[in-house]
Amino acid sequence: MKTLIKNAHVISPGVEIENASIAIKDGKIAKVSKRPLSPKGYDEVYDARGWYVMPGFIDVHTHGALTYDFCDADPQAVFKLAEGKLAEGVTTVLPTTLTVSHEELLAAAANAKAYVDAGQPFAKVPAIHLEGPFINVKCCGAQNPEYVRKPDLKEVKEINKVFPVKLISYAVETEGGAAFAKQCVKMGIVPSCGHTGAKLKELMPAYANGLRHMTHFCNQMTPLHHREIGMVGAGFLIEDLNTEVICDKIHLCPDMLKLIFTRRNLAHIQMITDSLRCSHCDDGYAFQMGGLDVKLENGEARLVKGGNLAGSTLWMGKGLKNVHEVTGIALKDLVRTTSWNQAIELGWGDTLGKVEEGYTADLAVLCRKRFDIHAVFVDGVRKV
Ligand SMILES: [Zn+2]
Repeated sequence: MKTLIKNAHVISPGVEIENASIAIKDGKIAKVSKRPLSPKGYDEVYDARGWYVMPGFIDVHTHGALTYDFCDADPQAVFKLAEGKLAEGVTTVLPTTLTVSHEELLAAAANAKAYVDAGQPFAKVPAIHLEGPFINVKCCGAQNPEYVRKPDLKEVKEINKVFPVKLISYAVETEGGAAFAKQCVKMGIVPSCGHTGAKLKELMPAYANGLRHMTHFCNQMTPLHHREIGMVGAGFLIEDLNTEVICDKIHLCPDMLKLIFTRRNLAHIQMITDSLRCSHCDDGYAFQMGGLDVKLENGEARLVKGGNLAGSTLWMGKGLKNVHEVTGIALKDLVRTTSWNQAIELGWGDTLGKVEEGYTADLAVLCRKRFDIHAVFVDGVRKV
């Protein structure tokens, strides 16, 4: 199968080429040419009409879409999550669990396996992200404190046997937290500090044991204080911590986004959506979360009582647009934070996350003004 994408405005880490042609062969990018290529010999030709062609996004932290949550006891949930994510240009996704019972986690893992066994028709699901249950009960956020427990490698191994776990968000200060980081790294799992009340000195033993990731940086972690810099301070002090950032301008105000993206090394920032079941739904959609009524209005999911924010409905491309507008940083520099950084940390940096020769042809085509999705290619096949 040979596909040609013409008139592409290529945005890839460190690269921006207008009027480019992208030759795709057998799911891989065979060539990115600055000059037009002849359409002869191609099975398909796609005209990108000057739109942005970026590496397909990699979302390592998302719970649901299209009314489904990954932890729903419903095999459809992974399909719907992956379908919603694909529509926003995400080509690889780590469905993310909530703090629930062990049985529910095993069931979610089994549903992910069933999706892959069915040929993963939408975004690719190479592994899952466990957010909790090993978190700090005082920093639960929207997680259910009833199911919080201590880090338990046996539990992780059981889930990992059903379907690969690649990322675990847990509180480093919990009993056995530092040793747990080392055990995760040994299993090829990225340990991440999240939903945490840790002080800097409580992070360092886990850091020494290989922890290099922070779950939704600034949200549900110790803030920066001038006598105890907390986890937010740690993120600024320690360059090689890979910080997840929710770029909806709500979870973090525009000034905080500016602070993070202009002061931290872009090689160690990963945009995430942390989106819930209400993403890709219309205004007025109502659902329950932890027994509380939530309603979607003006694209924001808020508690019916009190109006507090209940979670994110963010799309990856909109996050990129937000940060680009807030910081003025060039897209070719920012775009590594939507896919390549994630690919590197998960061990796929040589094949995934760039629009370059030899890389997997996972591509998102976005309009240049609103960053709306015009097309999505997965392994060289147009799926949106
Ligand atoms: Zn989350």
